[in-house]
Amino acid sequence: MTQINKTQPILVTGATGYVAGWLVKKLLEQGLTVHAAVRDPNNKTKLQHLDKVAENAPGTIKYFKSDLLQKGSYAEAMKGCELVFHTASPFTSAIKDPQKDLIDPAVLGTENVLETANQTPSVKRVVITSSCAAIYTDAIDCKAAPGGALTEENWNTTSSIKYQPYSYSKTLAEKKGWEITEKQNQYDLVTINPSFVMGPPLNLNGNTSESFNILKQMGDGTFKTGAPKMGVGLVDVRDVAEAHYKAGFTPEAKGRYITSAHNTNFYEMGVSLHDKFGNEFPIPKKALPKWLLMLIGPLANKQFSRKFIKNNIDIEWKADNSKIRKELGIEFRPMKTTMEDAFQALVDHEIVKPKR
Ligand code: NDP
Repeated sequence: MTQINKTQPILVTGATGYVAGWLVKKLLEQGLTVHAAVRDPNNKTKLQHLDKVAENAPGTIKYFKSDLLQKGSYAEAMKGCELVFHTASPFTSAIKDPQKDLIDPAVLGTENVLETANQTPSVKRVVITSSCAAIYTDAIDCKAAPGGALTEENWNTTSSIKYQPYSYSKTLAEKKGWEITEKQNQYDLVTINPSFVMGPPLNLNGNTSESFNILKQMGDGTFKTGAPKMGVGLVDVRDVAEAHYKAGFTPEAKGRYITSAHNTNFYEMGVSLHDKFGNEFPIPKKALPKWLLMLIGPLANKQFSRKFIKNNIDIEWKADNSKIRKELGIEFRPMKTTMEDAFQALVDHEIVKPKR
């Protein structure tokens, strides 16, 4: 049982991020003091949405310069905090060197943050943004899970530095988190393991999350000939923020939490946009057949290998989200709301343009 004193500051690492933005908003709206750890506190483009939220909320935001790869760089930001939300980790497909671009920042970053927590006596709880990627690699792994659905008991055993290195980075990082936590008894660790996060971004400028890239592709014509029925889980970014908040402040919160609302696929995500946007935007209207993807996929995108297509296309994704609903009382938004609100944000900011 861990009780957090709300008068103390709360640390959020990677505060500029897509997921972190909504969490910072929630904390500020609750009147809390947020220590926002960011790589570059002078990058106004990346901070303007947070400044705007802070202007209209009772809480206070203070920025600190921190980098996952710089040992000790979270110490100042963590001073006096009882609760630490560690969200920072690269989530991008634009990688040249998986070790340097994904694995090192994820794993060494987690080590860096937790070792600083070990030296900061005020810290009572750390909430790490892990991922369903630390639970599975391919949709086909769901079938192999006991009961045919992923649960918190499962760990990703099939990714590697060569195959799905992002999933590998999240698996190694979460394992490192548990390993360090088990060696001490000053704080407890709770992990939030979201599936694919969607919903309106607060930071439309400078947003680099892979979620944002896929969302843009839904409306910029990338999928105009069709979208793959690639099995994924989906969750609203606002619900992910709420899950973090509850994980931080629910004294009994414990262990890992699968944070996934819907068992779906990319094609269905496109379909959910038809009613509102189908006439004006090149939203995917058809499902791309697996045989065609096998033929052209690997040529179009290096990460779309035959192995990946075989293990994910036309394969149902399934996870059990009962733990978070029961223990943290999370209620998830409908998928249509998530997708429509997300796409509307892009339309409002002319990031996607109607067909001429
Ligand atoms: P974003 O790219 O928007 O956020 C990533 C954050 O990590 C940014 O704030 C970024 O800072 C920070 N970061 C990256 N590298 C470093 C570094 N070397 N030092 C300090 N900070 C760094 O992605 P998301 O918001 O989508 O992801 C946030 C978390 O959620 C990640 O841990 C991700 O793995 C996890 N997650 C995301 C899912 C999704 O579908 N979006 C699904 C499941 C988990 P900067 O702005 O300076 O680049």
